[in-house]
Amino acid sequence: MQVAAYGAHAGDKPLESLRITRRELSAEDIRIDIAYCGVCHSDLHQVRAEWEGTQFPCVPGHEIVGRVAAVGPNVTNFAPGDLVGVGCIVDSCKHCEECDAGLENYCDDMVGTYNFPTPDAPGWTLGGYSQAIVVDQRYALRIRHPEAQLAAVAPLLCAGITTWSPLRHWKAGPGKKVGVVGIGGLGHMGIKLAHALGAHVVAFTTSESKRDAAKALGADEVVVSTDAKQMAAHLKSFDLIINTVAAPHDLDALLVLIKRDGAMTLVGAPASPHPSPNVFNLIMKRRTLAGSMIGGIPETQEMLDFCAEHGIVSDIELISANQINDAYERMLKGDVKYRFVIDNATLAD
Ligand code: NAP
Ligand code: ZN
Repeated sequence: MQVAAYGAHAGDKPLESLRITRRELSAEDIRIDIAYCGVCHSDLHQVRAEWEGTQFPCVPGHEIVGRVAAVGPNVTNFAPGDLVGVGCIVDSCKHCEECDAGLENYCDDMVGTYNFPTPDAPGWTLGGYSQAIVVDQRYALRIRHPEAQLAAVAPLLCAGITTWSPLRHWKAGPGKKVGVVGIGGLGHMGIKLAHALGAHVVAFTTSESKRDAAKALGADEVVVSTDAKQMAAHLKSFDLIINTVAAPHDLDALLVLIKRDGAMTLVGAPASPHPSPNVFNLIMKRRTLAGSMIGGIPETQEMLDFCAEHGIVSDIELISANQINDAYERMLKGDVKYRFVIDNATLAD
């Protein structure tokens, strides 16, 4: 079926209205009428061809929520009318060590929600800036939040799971000091989730103006990372730092804040590399510098259920589809508290 979408025909062209084809339902497929889609900084990196290999037309969007419209004959997990989400993964090999462990995000054959090879037209996946999507039931998530919160649930499908997965892996909780660097879409969810898990949370921001807002999100302390004195007050004290910054920066200034056996995990994915860190800052306290990519399907469901139980959603600004190009410019300036979400009902306008 043909549906309305928003996408770009080249990296230096604005996004515009276009039509795309969604496949017919296979036995395990569900079709979702998309109600809302969050706007991740990865969408911008991809559609502007800042990362290698963007295929055009490119339709971004991997923070998808909506209602099941139809199901294939073998679908047992979902029924028409159910509230569901789709995040960054729409397929994987289903039988490797990673898939067996529920870590489909690390499967070598993972298929991302946009810009990954697929037999479907046009040969690469097209994301959630669209009216509908067809997905294997294995990669759909159940949403247990009240429907009134649906738009604000959308960012949990990427920003939420990308911070939840390392928080759980490195066992953030009571008695642990956790830093969250960069208070954007990912960072604001990192603060909320780390706080809800019981950790002592320190927000690192380049924007003094975000100080009060970061506290309201659940940060116990806020550090303006350009102020050496404020940074020095936290030397050798962190169990875990989650670094969401979308641009190259000095990692050493953060590594020295980690205590013995602590870790900094990079989730920000800038288009060009960070300056190399000083090896001695790793050796000296047996520190770990790590990375983490989104999360597997079971842990995404775990995160969604935790958020439903604790009343956690994203802080969003709802936009219509034709505001997306302006929203990208504002995201680059840090002018959003903290996630734009597209009202997909406006796609057909
Ligand atoms: P975002 O909303 O734009 O937030 C990024 C934050 O980083 C900004 O709000 C800003 O916070 C801080 N920052 C400091 N200097 C910056 C600079 N020069 N340019 C940009 N940001 C700067 O982005 P997001 O959606 O949270 O995504 C963050 C990064 O994570 C992106 O690179 C994205 O591609 C990546 N990502 C990775 C994964 C994964 O699986 N690992 C998943 C999703 C996204 P302050 O104002 O507080 O300093
Ligand atoms: Zn994302």
